[in-house]
Amino acid sequence: MSKQPEEIFNFSATSDACVKCGKCIPVCTIHNVNADEVTSPRGFIDLLGAYQKGKLELDKNAKDIFESCFLCTNCVDVCPKALPTDMVIEQVRADIAEKFGIAWFKKLFFYLLRHRTTMDLLFKLGYVFQSCGFKIKNELNSMTPRFPMPIIKSGRLLPSMTKTSFLNAHKEELIDNGGKRRVAIFIGCLGNYNYPGIGEGLLTILKHLGIDAFLAKEQKCCGAPAYFTGDFDTVDYLAKQNITYFEKFIDEVEAIIIPESTCSAMIRVDYEHFFHDQPEWKARALKLKPKIFMATEWLQHHTHLEHLLASKGKNDTLVTYHDPCHARKMQGVYKEPRNLIGQNYTITEMSDPNQCCGFGGVTMQTEKFHFAQAAGKPKAAMIRNTGAQVVAAECSACRMQLNNAMYEADVDTLFKNPIELIAEALEAK
Ligand code: SF4
Ligand code: SF4
Repeated sequence: MSKQPEEIFNFSATSDACVKCGKCIPVCTIHNVNADEVTSPRGFIDLLGAYQKGKLELDKNAKDIFESCFLCTNCVDVCPKALPTDMVIEQVRADIAEKFGIAWFKKLFFYLLRHRTTMDLLFKLGYVFQSCGFKIKNELNSMTPRFPMPIIKSGRLLPSMTKTSFLNAHKEELIDNGGKRRVAIFIGCLGNYNYPGIGEGLLTILKHLGIDAFLAKEQKCCGAPAYFTGDFDTVDYLAKQNITYFEKFIDEVEAIIIPESTCSAMIRVDYEHFFHDQPEWKARALKLKPKIFMATEWLQHHTHLEHLLASKGKNDTLVTYHDPCHARKMQGVYKEPRNLIGQNYTITEMSDPNQCCGFGGVTMQTEKFHFAQAAGKPKAAMIRNTGAQVVAAECSACRMQLNNAMYEADVDTLFKNPIELIAEALEAK
């Protein structure tokens, strides 16, 4: 990241730096589903400049516009000036939250993210009662509402709840696989509560590699859902809790590995930007950074997993890989999952694996779900056209969005995290 936070958060300077070349428009996720100049990267940047110069009031219309960005970073990737549209929008969303408040259901959600014990209890209750309100689709770890519900569009597919979260399913905090090497696991909320196969897969892989797994049970949500919504108090609380906790064990582990691109990008990249005006916390976040990795990235570069997988031979499952925005564009991770999966599965590329799936965050998944649906359609079609049995991505937000997009389009490709695929290959007889 070449730009300093002081430059990034100067909306007016960012706006003045835009040369209006329009290179960002064809790749913009929101512009592709809502072709209007104001919902385009240079439109957002123009309006933000006007806002900082006092020429634009942050009214409901402006709120609506700034909440329409998917934060996918496609524009940053192609912009000749590398203008950080996503980051300035994240910043203005804090002003929006301060002025308009945060919707009750988001407040409730962020409260739960801050209080893990309550979340654990609620998910246990949810598991018991979910079948009353939802039809459960076990093969997809998903469910659909039986009747219209507030906020949830009828017919949509949501992640279902598990009986016990991944972190609570293991009594011991340290899983001893020989005592020679040790990594910590940061599992992420969706992986912990909704898709426990990811954490279990990671434990299987570490067992095969003879690397001890520290489950880091006091970890909190990384804060990404609150960051993308402008609830900076929640981000401040969660980030500081995580940093303080990681510091307690960081010298005893080789790395903190994260099988979730959004959580990894948040901790590795966004904590630094979030703390741009709190130098002590910024320095503490930066000190941890060299030991934060996406799971496939660390496994590829720091273990003999590739050779171990190669010794297992190929099976006949066809897999296509979707690049999560927070993996490829924010962390440069895209070769590693392909290389590891490719040892045992045949990979067939979709026409544009780098195109955003359209998840977009809490607001996009609730009040602006029609945009998420529209952005998911072309991705579902791309997946269908590959003929693959499995679509993989190291991101559970992509999983939630793609599962719904494929369900709506009647695509019967199954979603798996690459960690799950790798673990299956290792365990195959
Ligand atoms: S982050 Fe994505 S949706 Fe937002 S302006 Fe950039 S390309 Fe468009
Ligand atoms: S690509 Fe960058 S410089 Fe060109 S119009 Fe978009 S934001 Fe402005």
